[in-house]
Amino acid sequence: MTEKKNSTEATNVEEEKLFTSLRAVAWSEFCGQEKVKQSLHVALTAAKKRKEPIEHILLYGPPGLGKTTLAHLIAKEMEVNIRITSGPAIERSGDLASILTNLEPGDVLFIDEIHRLNKVVEETLYPAMEDYALDIVIGKGPSARTLRLDLPKFTIVGATTRIGLMSAPLRDRFGIIQRLNFYSPNDLESIIKNASNKLEIEVNETAIKELAKRARGTPRIALKLLKRARDFAQVKSKSNIDNEVLTDAFSLLEIDSMGLDDSDRRLLKALIEKHGGGPVGIETMAATLSEDIGTLEEVIEPYLMQLGFLKRTPRGREATEKAYKHLKIPFELTQRGAQGKPLEKKISPQEKLL
Ligand code: ADP
Repeated sequence: MTEKKNSTEATNVEEEKLFTSLRAVAWSEFCGQEKVKQSLHVALTAAKKRKEPIEHILLYGPPGLGKTTLAHLIAKEMEVNIRITSGPAIERSGDLASILTNLEPGDVLFIDEIHRLNKVVEETLYPAMEDYALDIVIGKGPSARTLRLDLPKFTIVGATTRIGLMSAPLRDRFGIIQRLNFYSPNDLESIIKNASNKLEIEVNETAIKELAKRARGTPRIALKLLKRARDFAQVKSKSNIDNEVLTDAFSLLEIDSMGLDDSDRRLLKALIEKHGGGPVGIETMAATLSEDIGTLEEVIEPYLMQLGFLKRTPRGREATEKAYKHLKIPFELTQRGAQGKPLEKKISPQEKLL
């Protein structure tokens, strides 16, 4: 178990290194997300003209869509340093104060998973974002005093996979809020092409298309699949990645034609086979799958919804007819009818006796 965990950690570290080495270092390398790029471009140009730091920016969307990369590009464009931290890493107001007081004028502070900041730290952040000041309480009890410390003007780029969990006062302090969407196959193809050039791997045209199709609309997954395919090609002593290499790689990784992996299929199957296709609450789904709610909501469900395999309704999650078809489970045989209403289950005379 520990060995397995260690090897998973080693793979993660290796993958992180790969992503860092492949990180888009210029806007021209950042494919897709045209609306986001356009609005950032306007804001960056205006800020540069005013010779002021750019407003605080909040980027949200599922993991692996380029939030961290955009933060780096913003800092580069403004010719300032970037400091990287995350919500859970800032445990106390003192941690935040030490980060903020060490910033240079104009610097970008990237806070990943900003929805996980604790309340006290979050409240310390308000005046820092609004007035570039820190209110520090000195002493305790009746003799306690508040000292206001001026900070250099800086920019926070916040990233979150769960904007719904952010408090309204924190959200409102961001001047620019942008949602990152899943990428089109065309954009993913360009990302794969650029990465394969950087890694000096040859990938056939059809293989690029196949990789893009199975990457769940996510650059991080596209790059991960490319890396795995490269390993397979090496094992097979092949100089390039073609469809044969991919077929082997996908079957070993259990990634199907729509890019669904084992976790996706497990979720859909549990929903259909154990809960009659739904609707079923997220807590029940999490318990059925022994998964945490956050992973289901942030990582697994968004892509299934994007494909139209899963619906979130006020009464809970529902599998769609498309999901049944994909899993080759007859839609009529489950308890739900075509309109999503439970079917009257016919009980045979033998069953009545049991
Ligand atoms: P997030 O912060 O949203 O989890 P990252 O910025 O860490 O995502 O992106 C993961 C990987 O995907 C990085 O290697 C990054 O360079 C690459 N990537 C993400 N978006 C794009 C894009 N639009 N164009 C090219 N590469 C991208």
